[in-house]
Amino acid sequence: MSRIGVFVCHCGMNIERTVDTQAVAATLSEHSGVVFTTDYNFLCADPGQRLIRDAIAEHKLDGIIVAACSPAMHEPTFRRVAAEAGLNPYLCEIANIREHCSWVHQDRDKATQKAIRIVKTLVEKVRGNQPLEPLRIDHDDKCLVIGGGIAGIQAALDVAESGFEVILVEKEPSIGGHMAQLSETFPTLDCSQCILTPKMVEVSRHPNVRLLTYSEVVEVTGYVGNYEVKIRKNPTYVDPDKCNLCGECVKVCPKSVGSEFERGLVERKAIYIPFEQAIPSSYTLDEEACLGLHPLRCSECAKVCEPKAIDYDMRPEYIEESVGAIIVATGYSLYPISSLTEYGGGQIPDVIDGLQFERLLSASGPTSGEVRRPSDGKIPKKVVFIQCAGSRDPERHNAYCSKICCMYTTKHALLYRHAVPDGEAVVFYIDIRAGGKGYEEFTQHAIEEERILYLRGKVSKVYRQDDRVVVWGVDTLSNRRVEIEADLVVLAISMNPHPSNLALSKILKISCDADGFLKEAHPKLRPVESLTAGIFLAGAAQGPKDIPEAVSQSSGAAVKAVTLLTKDKLIHSPEVVEIDEAICGGCGICVDMCPYNALAVNGAGVAEVNEVLCEGCGSCVSACPTGAAQLKNMTTQQFVEMIEVALQDG
Ligand code: FAD
Ligand code: SF4
Repeated sequence: MSRIGVFVCHCGMNIERTVDTQAVAATLSEHSGVVFTTDYNFLCADPGQRLIRDAIAEHKLDGIIVAACSPAMHEPTFRRVAAEAGLNPYLCEIANIREHCSWVHQDRDKATQKAIRIVKTLVEKVRGNQPLEPLRIDHDDKCLVIGGGIAGIQAALDVAESGFEVILVEKEPSIGGHMAQLSETFPTLDCSQCILTPKMVEVSRHPNVRLLTYSEVVEVTGYVGNYEVKIRKNPTYVDPDKCNLCGECVKVCPKSVGSEFERGLVERKAIYIPFEQAIPSSYTLDEEACLGLHPLRCSECAKVCEPKAIDYDMRPEYIEESVGAIIVATGYSLYPISSLTEYGGGQIPDVIDGLQFERLLSASGPTSGEVRRPSDGKIPKKVVFIQCAGSRDPERHNAYCSKICCMYTTKHALLYRHAVPDGEAVVFYIDIRAGGKGYEEFTQHAIEEERILYLRGKVSKVYRQDDRVVVWGVDTLSNRRVEIEADLVVLAISMNPHPSNLALSKILKISCDADGFLKEAHPKLRPVESLTAGIFLAGAAQGPKDIPEAVSQSSGAAVKAVTLLTKDKLIHSPEVVEIDEAICGGCGICVDMCPYNALAVNGAGVAEVNEVLCEGCGSCVSACPTGAAQLKNMTTQQFVEMIEVALQDG
């Protein structure tokens, strides 16, 4: 390569303030093989791109360096510009003189010298580059959605409506997630189930959706566009086609356990339907709760089942599917109430969490919407709501804000006042976070017009005295200690990631953040993508979210999945590893080193690369004892030349 061009960007003052870009361009013009250099204010802007295109044509450049920001930012932009000018895009390299230089130094002279060296190393690299063609991959056009809460339902419907097949996997016996448990929703107070159930029905009947409830993804292999997925469908021991929902089995079942849907406020039988509007509408025999299936200990349900729907011989079914894209919508759980001992959590029956209160408020709940205390069923005349229970408490619990509990506490206090008009509601808060359309107005209405007493301050202790719950706190606005004798305490408990996130993230090879929520590729610019191509995130699986936010993020994830699925072919970088068969000893060290399973030793005893799986990380290159593994356009020879020029004087 003998006609190299160097373009040095000012990035406004971002680079120019610390690096003398003119000096960089002038020095590089003397470097061997460089025939054109220039500096420019914003190379990524339209006139900057035009300048590059024109220079490639005019000076017949056969390789270019753009000295600018990180390649993570604009490598695709400048490679596209090169291609538009007829230059193979892999003969365009980016020298990062912003993040690696101007942003981390103050001394302009030294930074300029460093920038010159950085650019020179890239000149050496491009000199050794080969023109490459991107790999074009066929892909499957199905989409897997994991999690059947409102986020997963919305994503599944959006993808299905775009004409693609969806497999929706939900681990519980019914779809609906936490939204199915809510009474009314802030800030409009519309009935949660009334707006959710039509969507549940729609997704279950959609011709493009295959719904797999009581199922879990147990294995995922492959790569973007071509994932092989193994799903375990757990046995319900009830044939839904035969079951006529008569409910006789429930009447005779001798075993009861706390109902998950009612958050333990009432019991359910070992054979059960989670809630009335459950989808699918069919009974499930909970193997763990049953007196015994293997061997059979009871069999009362089968004895009374007229249509012979009970089948104790059911076994897990394994379903294998090929999908092009995956959307993960596994939602959240609540921080365990028993960990909040300072508030009597798990010890005092009349200290409950927000979802339990939702069930007490719900017309379809265990009290038919009447607010009654769990301990004795009495109507509570004074209720204390404690916000930030387990949130914003880095010393003892979660450091983060759970974002939705300020709003649902206002809703709870309001709905309580509607249900018990002569009742008193007191809210302890640190500060109120009501950022959302109509949210501030909703909170102000509660404070000003609904006689809800908001006390700014923390609660230090909650204990039981006779049949009441005493709350000690401070009102930091009046600087007074407060002691309230309440009938019921409702904790606005921190949102936790769903417990299955960690195991699932390993199966999918995606990351979790420090708190255990699924990690997005970029917090601002790629919030619905994971770092693994073709796997997208939706809803509270990625972080605390209310329903409108979960729904909009799901539609975003669906668009990303559909964009991928509508492509004729997927493009994969050709900068992958290649094996020199003449010197490969077939030792297999590279196979063990590769985190993407892209290598295997073939029948001829040499390593073979699956170029589509290879991400070009170079792990195998550094481990290969013979040097047979080399990355295209990043060979050991190129590295040596880059290091030599970086270490040269002057
Ligand atoms: P989820 O509802 O948690 O659904 C996730 C689904 O994924 C579940 O069905 C789960 O079983 C399934 N799943 C998990 N792991 C797996 C796996 N490995 N494989 C298969 N399936 C899996 N928001 C509002 O906007 N308005 C309100 O009034 C409101 N009130 C609230 C009151 C309380 C007390 C609480 C705690 C929350 C409230 N919210 C409210 C928030 C609302 O619950 C969430 O925004 C919403 O449920 C998020 O939906 P999701 O689908 O992301 O998660
Ligand atoms: Fe506390 Fe409100 Fe954040 Fe919930 S949303 S943690 S109550 S500040």
